[in-house]
Amino acid sequence: MVDRKLKSVWVYHVDAGSCNGCDIEVLDTLTPYYDLERLGVKVVPNPRHADVLFITGPLTRQTRLSIKKTYEAMPPKPRIVVAIGTCACSGGIFYNSYALYNVSPQRGSDRLRTGGPEIVVPIDLYIPGCPPSPEEILYGVSQLLGIKEKKMKGEYWIALPPGEESKVENEVKFKIPDRPIPLRYWLTLREELRRVVGYYDRDVVLNDFIDLVGKAFKEVPKNTKEELHNLITGYLVEEKDSRIKVAMLFLENEFWRLYTEYQEWGEALKKKYPVTWGV
Ligand code: SF4
Repeated sequence: MVDRKLKSVWVYHVDAGSCNGCDIEVLDTLTPYYDLERLGVKVVPNPRHADVLFITGPLTRQTRLSIKKTYEAMPPKPRIVVAIGTCACSGGIFYNSYALYNVSPQRGSDRLRTGGPEIVVPIDLYIPGCPPSPEEILYGVSQLLGIKEKKMKGEYWIALPPGEESKVENEVKFKIPDRPIPLRYWLTLREELRRVVGYYDRDVVLNDFIDLVGKAFKEVPKNTKEELHNLITGYLVEEKDSRIKVAMLFLENEFWRLYTEYQEWGEALKKKYPVTWGV
């Protein structure tokens, strides 16, 4: 994250081949309803005046050079880059498209994942989502400005069994159809994970996590929680990509939250459901 806490920033927004969905959400944050300017953020028409660069899109071959030149045109400090949308974070649904500028494996990662402007410019803040909602963009920007703690209140989502009400403050309930418990684990983890790392990494990380859970529960050790945590720690030592690390720790927390709720493991995650399983 960015060390320097900025009071107000001038932002330049550039499109690296997005489908336009993310751009619309960025524009939405500037409307009177969300009013990004109240946080001291002003959009400028020239990168030479900008402190922060917003990039949307997965970095196509056509846009590679212009993104690099835009970045170089910015003043050398603070020169902060924010990747908005899953495409800008990791290539998103276009990760294997012929139109992307491909470098494989990506810097800092031993995984075959293509796309994302981090190939040509260093990213300071990732805001995943396809597209991220204006609220998520505001949340990311408020983190950048160091005002998140002062002005924003967290809330998280949980899937509850039909008919049950949430008892926790700031918890928002969403309904999933009354499916068997194994599927509830799978669907909830997968859906939550999308918010953290996007489409492609989500399935890779979730499959790795499921393998670790299977190992942790295999021998029914005395302390399964500790066993799983040790396995995850070993995984994190090997993993170079910080986003995958964050996702794995996120999964660990979510898993135990669901486990507390369902109070049963059963065969829950031993089966790998197909990636295209419908929600
Ligand atoms: S993240 Fe989704 S909405 Fe944004 S550019 Fe990519 S496909 Fe479009």
